[in-house]
Amino acid sequence: MTILDAFRLDGKVALVTGANRGLGRAIAAALAEAGADVAGLNRSSDNGGAAALVTAAGRRYHHIACDLGAATRADLKAAIDEVIDQLGGLDILVNNAGLIRRADILDYSDEDWNLVIQVNLTAAFQLAQLAAGRMVEAGGGKIINIASLLSFQGGIRVPAYTASKHGLVGVTLAMANELAGKGVNVNAIAPGYMVTDNTAALRADPKRNAAILERIPAGHWGEPEELQGAVVFLASDAANYVHGAVLPVDGGWLAR
Ligand code: NAP
Repeated sequence: MTILDAFRLDGKVALVTGANRGLGRAIAAALAEAGADVAGLNRSSDNGGAAALVTAAGRRYHHIACDLGAATRADLKAAIDEVIDQLGGLDILVNNAGLIRRADILDYSDEDWNLVIQVNLTAAFQLAQLAAGRMVEAGGGKIINIASLLSFQGGIRVPAYTASKHGLVGVTLAMANELAGKGVNVNAIAPGYMVTDNTAALRADPKRNAAILERIPAGHWGEPEELQGAVVFLASDAANYVHGAVLPVDGGWLAR
């Protein structure tokens, strides 16, 4: 196998959560361009975003309806079974779906806390656990958790998000320790400040926008496409000896 072949995902099946928009859509498109069929787990039926990009790359797309804020373990198991049933296997899981709720720390509500932890951390762990079971049986697989700069820093007005993303890195390391010997690679990507709905409020605030931009060595907000190379790498055989890594794709933010 040549080194470029090691990056190819031909014949693989990937499950991407939150594939309808933002980073998830770019991730789904990248995996398909590299050769994988893609299942998108979304709250709403596909709006044409990911499905169109995946099929334009010549790969199959399957939509799975699931609200991770309300999903039970049985719902998640059914989602994994549906991927295997419809696309013939499960080689790659990208835990991308996530939300952010902003409020001053003294006012932060239990409702916001519980929902953010449920979607960003609990559902991601349960999906990874269920996918890993299948991957171990099948002889291997790749799990990629989408972490954040707030896996390393505290952030402002987002305590539940910060806790969930610190937790997701902890889960990544814990799972990598137990699964590396079983052929399953568990890694994370920590995106920097990227242009998606998640950061619309920050970009709309001239003071926060300027302060963020001033601190990014690359000098610009990240585009979703700038995450694609890291995802394909970690999903591929080129990363077979990479376990428990947290790869920043942040324009150099953490280097400062
Ligand atoms: P986004 O544009 O707001 O997209 C979030 C995605 O998560 C959407 O597809 C959304 O589905 C899905 N989602 C939210 N709640 C869900 C639920 N209850 N059940 C199922 N899906 C749900 O945000 P994004 O920036 O692409 O974020 C993707 C991931 O990257 C998140 O984990 C986020 O924390 C992380 N991240 C983003 C940045 C950034 O700068 N943008 C930086 C670091 C990390 P719907 O379309 O149905 O709403």
